[in-house]
Amino acid sequence: MIRVGRRAVGLFLLAALSRAALSGPRETTVLQTPAGATLELNLRAWQPGEAIVVRLTDRPEGVETVLSFRDRDIPVSGRAADGSGLAFFGLDVTLKPGVYDLGIEDRVQGSPPLKAKRTVEVQPKSFPRKSLTVKSEYVFYPPEAAERIRRESELLGAVYAVRTPDWQGTGPFEAPHPARALPNFGEIRVFNGVPRSPHTGVDVMAGPDEMVRSSNAGTVVLASELYLAGNTVIVDHGLGVFTLYCHFSRVLVKRGDRVSKGDPVGRVGSTGRSTGPHLHWGVRILDARVDPASLLGLDL
Ligand SMILES: [Zn+2]
Repeated sequence: MIRVGRRAVGLFLLAALSRAALSGPRETTVLQTPAGATLELNLRAWQPGEAIVVRLTDRPEGVETVLSFRDRDIPVSGRAADGSGLAFFGLDVTLKPGVYDLGIEDRVQGSPPLKAKRTVEVQPKSFPRKSLTVKSEYVFYPPEAAERIRRESELLGAVYAVRTPDWQGTGPFEAPHPARALPNFGEIRVFNGVPRSPHTGVDVMAGPDEMVRSSNAGTVVLASELYLAGNTVIVDHGLGVFTLYCHFSRVLVKRGDRVSKGDPVGRVGSTGRSTGPHLHWGVRILDARVDPASLLGLDL
């Protein structure tokens, strides 16, 4: 395994301190692409549930850089505020620890692509375990509910399959509500004694009917009532990054709306599979479900 030129972002002391307060310390891995551009991977840790921000600078004219991770192409097609190339990918909450290939390809029109490969090592992470009691129809689904859940999961798959090639965000991601978020991302959930899939967001302890705001600018790609998530809003920020807000008492946007960072998207409620009013806040990057805190505090 080769890890080239890793350096801490701690050089920028103040920035690092504010980031650390928001989302813990971060590390940057610096690589060269085959055509000589500088590629920076910024993340908290190579662990399941973490977001990775890719920046590309010194890119030679006419070169398009595409990364690949776990059979997924990640074109560096966005543009950050400072003009550098921007892309994101994530390590899914269920990703097994181990060594993974990271492909780096530079494409130049009229020439064969220049390819390189690195490896990254994903370290194990242990997530908490929690037992919960909910109404039994949210654990042992009646047949019509099972059918509805299947349909809704197909719908979500279609929503998340769209990768908008431009960055829609403005500046860093912000928490959608100022209340405390429980550190329960990745929690292994046992509903009424039955183990279910892990908790793929954080629960924000906001009060009933309080306003929830979009974490960044983007486009509303779903505003619907779902069986498990209740009244739900999903915002596409571009480059495969989506934020998800669930269990609303009221949804305040509709599909297709453009939202700015901080625009209201809904009011806190307890619809769907929920044990009381709170905001469930999730982040999806391409096909990976990641901890929302791993996106906070980044200069974008
Ligand atoms: Zn939740």
